[in-house]
Order: sequence, then C-alpha cells, then structure tokens
Amino acid sequence: MSHSDIRPATTVVSVGRPDRTPGAPVNPPVVLSSTYVGSEPSAPGALEYARINTESWHPMEQAIGELERADRPGLLFGSGMAAISAALDLTPPGGVLVVPRHAYHASLVAARELADRCGVEIRSVDIADTAAVVAAVRGGSGETADDAAAPADLVWLETPTNPMLEIADIKAVSQAAHEVGAVVVVDNTFATPLLQRPLELGADVVVHSVTKYLAGHSDVVLGAVVTSDPDLWARVRARRTIGGGIAGPFESWLALRGLRTLALRVERAQQNTAELARRLQDHPDALAVAYPGLPDHPQHALAAEQMDGFGGILTVRVHGGREAAQRVTEAVRLWLPATSLGGVESMLERRRRWANEAASVPEDLLRVSVGIEDVEDLWADLDQALRAARLP
Ligand code: PLP
Repeated sequence: MSHSDIRPATTVVSVGRPDRTPGAPVNPPVVLSSTYVGSEPSAPGALEYARINTESWHPMEQAIGELERADRPGLLFGSGMAAISAALDLTPPGGVLVVPRHAYHASLVAARELADRCGVEIRSVDIADTAAVVAAVRGGSGETADDAAAPADLVWLETPTNPMLEIADIKAVSQAAHEVGAVVVVDNTFATPLLQRPLELGADVVVHSVTKYLAGHSDVVLGAVVTSDPDLWARVRARRTIGGGIAGPFESWLALRGLRTLALRVERAQQNTAELARRLQDHPDALAVAYPGLPDHPQHALAAEQMDGFGGILTVRVHGGREAAQRVTEAVRLWLPATSLGGVESMLERRRRWANEAASVPEDLLRVSVGIEDVEDLWADLDQALRAARLP
C-alpha cells in the first residue's frame, strides 16, 4: 500500500519499517558504522561515509517527508538549530531576509549572525500582519530613491510563533514571495505535520525541531529540513555534509519510535490544552490567556482555516508581574518547570528568563506546553501554583 493513500495517523505507525520478508525484524536496525566498504568513485546516494549518508536516518527521513507531503525524503540534522542554520544559509550573501519579530529566539540570533557575516539585510515583521509582511517581501516600488528597497530573497515564517502564538498566513505570504522569486521557509515545530502542512499551502521548505513533538519524549535532540524542490534539497543536503551537523543513529531510531504515537499524543495534548485554556480564562490570577483555539485569539479564524487543530501550547500572563510568574514555576509539583515543549510531560517556563528573548515578550508570560496527563491533575496543580504565587 502506498503511503500517499493512507492517513497521517496510520503513516506514523507504518512508515519506515523493513521489508516484509520472513524472519525480518519489524523495526529498522541501528547501524553503528562510520564508514562503508567501497573503492569506486563516489555515486549519488551511495552509502560511503556516515556523515554524508547512513541508513539509520532513512526511516525517519521517509516518515517526515511523507507526513509533510513532500516529493522527497526529509533531511535529518543533529538538532533543530542545525536544520535551521542550514535552511537560513539558503539566503544569498548580500540578500534580504524577512523574519518574524517574535520567533524561537535562537533562530533570530542565527539570522542576525548570518546578516552580520554575509551582508544580509534583515527585515523584522509582525508575522500576524499579512499586509506588512507582504510589503516587506516586495520591498520598495523603486519609484523614488527613498523607496528603492530590494525584494526579499528568503522569508522565514514560524507559525504559531514561539512564544507569542501569532499566526502567519502561509498561503498569502508564499504567493507574494514567489512573485518576487523569494524562498519561503516555515518552522512547523509547534503544529507538526499532523496539524499543518506548509508545503501544501505554498511554502518551499519546512524545518522542525524533531526534539519536540515528533520525537515527543524529551529524550533526544534532533532536527529536520523538508522540501520538494530538488535544487533546495541538494543545497541543504550539501550544507549538512560540509557543516557536519548530523544526527546520530540511535537518536534517529529513538525519534522514529517516538513518532509512532504522534497522532495519539497530539490529539490528547490539544484536548487538554483547549480545556486548560478555557478554565484559565476564568482564573482570578490569570491576566491574559492566548491559545489559537480560543475564539478571542486575534487570528483564530486564520488558524482554523490553515490548521487541522490548534496544538498543545498556550501562554498565560500572571497577575503580579515577573515575580508572580516566576513563583508559579517554583510552586508547581506535577508540571515540570523546564524549557522545551512537545513532550508527553507538561512543562512551563517564564520565557523572559532567557536573555535573548525579545523585549516585547511580557515579563509575566508563561509558555505552557501541555502533555498527555489527566487534565484534572494538570488543572489542580496549575490552579494551586497560581494561587500560591499570589502576593500576600
Ligand atoms: N524551533 C522552535 C519553534 C523551537 O521551539 C526550538 C527549540 O525550542 C527550535 C526550533 C530549536 O530546536 P533544537 O532545540 O532541537 O535545536
């Protein structure tokens, strides 16, 4: 049965298994070899040296490619940031890079470093303001000297954004970008391909922190780049080979094992998140709650249109400011006070504890990654922590 005929919840379980020959294992092996026997001149796709290509990546690469509905396998990397760095490197020297003003902070640091190194111009935009993004993509009209800005070469989208949960209109931005020949990259970490498939909406490249939902158990760090474009695919693969930010065989295997339950985990996490978001809205200690699934989220309608679900991340701002928010993270007993997201276990953190986080992210904002525990236990612990954090 071809994987294009089956639904994603089945793909995650069945993809990447060894051929069904009698006595074959049902799971792929972990191959621990840095090199392969051979003396002929190098052939494309051959197994020759494990920094260039190794069979331990293939099942997970096939899985991510199929889930994102790409024409070719994904490319695994040693971390989300290694994948992001390789995708950012698609920006030409001296080119124009459009980035969200809020996004995973290390992605923005990597973009700024690229800009400093390679004379790239950065245009930082409110990704929720589609007209502003399109204007930044097009550049100036060129009619006057003051309005001669060049069009974009690469447009970086993250949607929903980390941690502000803003939604970018992937279809509209991709259309505008393609009119000026720009490449559109979407960080799809928060949504996962089960809830959002950017390539189907017109984007050129998808990146993932596989560390998060795809692997799902907070036990591996891994990344991926996915594209159907043969030229972009070859360039990213070449960056991986030369940059060397590759995935280890065992991490690749663990990620595939985690992926098997992705559909169940995402379904349960977002049920829990929707329920917690509703309850938090009525909590006396919550100043504001953001979740794309709430009808009062400014882009709820767009999220409903381009996503198949609203995901497992919400944010809550706490009455009492930075100190009260910090105290919540110290008062939780079941929730883990930790960075990262997308694991089976619920986690929260005050994002501004990171020096690189954008100054426009409120000091009192907690990013909440909801896991798959019983929602009543999650609520009881969150409620007691919010009350315990109250000023006397
Ligand atoms: N993209 C997003 C949206 C993230 O939240 C993160 C990490 O938190 C990354 C990328 C980076 O991934 P990694 O930590 O696997 O390098």
